[in-house]
Amino acid sequence: MRRAGVAYLFPAPRRVALSNLAPHYFVNAFRDSHGLDLLFEGEDRSLIDRKRPNEFAVIFVGLSYEPSYLNFARYLHLHGIPILRSDRPDGKFPLIIAGGVAPSLNPQPLLDICDAVLCGEAEPMHGDLTAILNDPAAAREVLPRLYYAAKPGKKPRIAQAAAGSFAVSSHPALTGEGNEFGGRTVLELDRGCVGTCHFCAARHLYGASREADRHRITHAAEEAFKRGKDIALLGTGLESVSYFDDLLDRAIAAGRTVSLSSVRIAGFTPQRASRLAAAGVKTVTLAPESMVVATRKRIGKPLTDDELFAAFETAKAHHFKVKLYLMAGLPDSDSAAEAQAIGAFFAELKDRRLTVPLSLSVTPFCPKPGTPFRGKALMPKKEYERFRDTVQRGAGKLMPQMPVEWFSWRESLLQTAFDRMSAAQGAAFLAVYADGGELRAAEKRSGIRLEDAANETQKKGTAQSK
Ligand code: SF4
Repeated sequence: MRRAGVAYLFPAPRRVALSNLAPHYFVNAFRDSHGLDLLFEGEDRSLIDRKRPNEFAVIFVGLSYEPSYLNFARYLHLHGIPILRSDRPDGKFPLIIAGGVAPSLNPQPLLDICDAVLCGEAEPMHGDLTAILNDPAAAREVLPRLYYAAKPGKKPRIAQAAAGSFAVSSHPALTGEGNEFGGRTVLELDRGCVGTCHFCAARHLYGASREADRHRITHAAEEAFKRGKDIALLGTGLESVSYFDDLLDRAIAAGRTVSLSSVRIAGFTPQRASRLAAAGVKTVTLAPESMVVATRKRIGKPLTDDELFAAFETAKAHHFKVKLYLMAGLPDSDSAAEAQAIGAFFAELKDRRLTVPLSLSVTPFCPKPGTPFRGKALMPKKEYERFRDTVQRGAGKLMPQMPVEWFSWRESLLQTAFDRMSAAQGAAFLAVYADGGELRAAEKRSGIRLEDAANETQKKGTAQSK
């Protein structure tokens, strides 16, 4: 079979995949020059040219979240592409090059699967990727020389785009496919973060805050408004972006609405809230992570209770719904006391008559490579269940109508395990998983228990990141 062309695989269903900006970036960067096409989980053929995965010479794979390694492995298997690199003779299968946030944290488990794992942001890689696509046959010589190409047993080196050198937004040709933002045009405003949260990969992988190019983002927003589209703004510290308020004003002037990924509580001032309300924002996401002041201080998010209640007052004054994000099992915290503090917080919200329409999301803390908490433990499943029961008892009485979302402990286990696996473990586990798609069977047949991978290598996680 003659293989030609390049595809970008995001191993998730199409709508979920297109809610991520990476496929939009790759279409924008390589469709006109190299005919880049898109592949999604659950679809046998590419989106635009209707080609099968095995017909491409090169497949880029975007992996933003560790559990998506499972979908990726299954995808290769279901499309007749051997999982292990050593089972894919040169030229007989597509060259597979992975990247994204998850493998940038720990590329090791993918090293015996992919032909290369590239760590960091795509913009600084553009010239090298162009050279590879111009001559895929020579790629195997080029790839190992790239400083951001992961090496066995080595800490990854991360490619970072300079402030103002990137500007990613929904590709106009893809907005008709829909996304999880109600079909809005999505714009990324910043990377890295002004925050200092010790658990946060965004801060520690991507460094200090960098803004996207103002001119290009503003142009993309204005073009969206002309097409009658509303916008969604993504970023880690939106309210600290120098042109954030200007974008809100432009949306207001155009009669369009805005939705936001989240807003840091420090930037949720009454003036900002008025502007957000005028721009049609209905829901604000606040993420104090813990309801214990001392815990917040210890995790690098030193928010006082007064600041938190002030944010709720502001939300109430502007009729916002609030999505509240908390973590369970934060390092060195007492999870029983943390769970009780959540109930106490809701009781005080009621006393202060601040019960705005509220939803709560709770996720187990995951120790991320490269962060100051990289060597900490994932809380045991039973402890997470006790935490959940205590919160549900307290919140259930006080806020019976409040929707509560509990993120899966198993997904956190997968994240932690893949963040700590070696190349050999990753290859062994994913090769077996690809065959049947069953986690327990994969654990049994590969001899790799996810809990062992997550726990036994705690020290290794610490050492690797030094
Ligand atoms: S504010 Fe959010 S994105 Fe920034 S460091 Fe903290 S958790 Fe990370």
